[in-house]
Amino acid sequence: MARDPLYPLHNPGVPRALSIAGHELVAFSISGVSTYVLAPAIDACFDMGHCPVEGARLRNVLLTHCHQDHSLGVVRHRALRQMWGDSRSKVFIPEESRAALVAVLRAVDAMEGRGREDTLDKDVVGVRAGDTFELSKRTRVEAFDVIHKAPSRGYSVIERRRALKESFVGRPGAELGAARDRGEELYDYNDRRTITFIGDSTIETLERVDPAVFDCDVAFLEATHLGDTDRAVSQKYGHTHLDELAALFRRTPARFGRAQFVLKHWSTRYARDEIAAALRALPEAFRARITALL
Ligand SMILES: [Zn+2]
Ligand SMILES: [Zn+2]
Repeated sequence: MARDPLYPLHNPGVPRALSIAGHELVAFSISGVSTYVLAPAIDACFDMGHCPVEGARLRNVLLTHCHQDHSLGVVRHRALRQMWGDSRSKVFIPEESRAALVAVLRAVDAMEGRGREDTLDKDVVGVRAGDTFELSKRTRVEAFDVIHKAPSRGYSVIERRRALKESFVGRPGAELGAARDRGEELYDYNDRRTITFIGDSTIETLERVDPAVFDCDVAFLEATHLGDTDRAVSQKYGHTHLDELAALFRRTPARFGRAQFVLKHWSTRYARDEIAAALRALPEAFRARITALL
């Protein structure tokens, strides 16, 4: 039966503020329209289908792949930051797509005729599977391969946190200063995997990826299709069907680590109620760990 063309879209078109496992994030995602997730605490955005002002305030953009609904916002990101006099932006993109993105950004500069200083060779960084790069002294990112219709990387963030050594806890400041002057180490350093971000992907990605990436606080996964949509359609377009995620969880729950999951990238073909109903049918142990971007 033909659907009412004005059926309610699953997402009202506004980003959502998320507070998950101590992480404050802002996320927006509709398949084919736009996906971005802002992580101010690490000065980074994951994907940038379009660029809200808040996104342009963040220095680092980590693109999973070059499809427009994930990447077009980098043009605005760069322009806004240059308008504010801050040219220290970094865009990370799969190495295979790097040259094309640089060409697009150069074409925009030529089109606008502004004669900006061309720093693209250092501002746009190609990422290979297995690469690790730093966003700051305390934040590093591991990249891994993702299976989709365009070259794609997933990103897993590891933060180094320091805590005063137990032997110094409660000691006066002067004593700590003296110990530091003697060259003693005052802190213990602990690595914690915080955010793992996977853009568009097939279920095969999750079957292959090192499960360590889900030993994190919060992980973003795609779920584009659900219900009657044939799983073969999802696979043909490089996407995941919610039933495939549920089946993988039933088969190998250990693969899902300790993460809380955010499911994103729902197709515009589904109304909000349809997605909510499909989520209610998930295994309870999985559903309890899921936030859906609706
Ligand atoms: Zn997409
Ligand atoms: Zn895509």
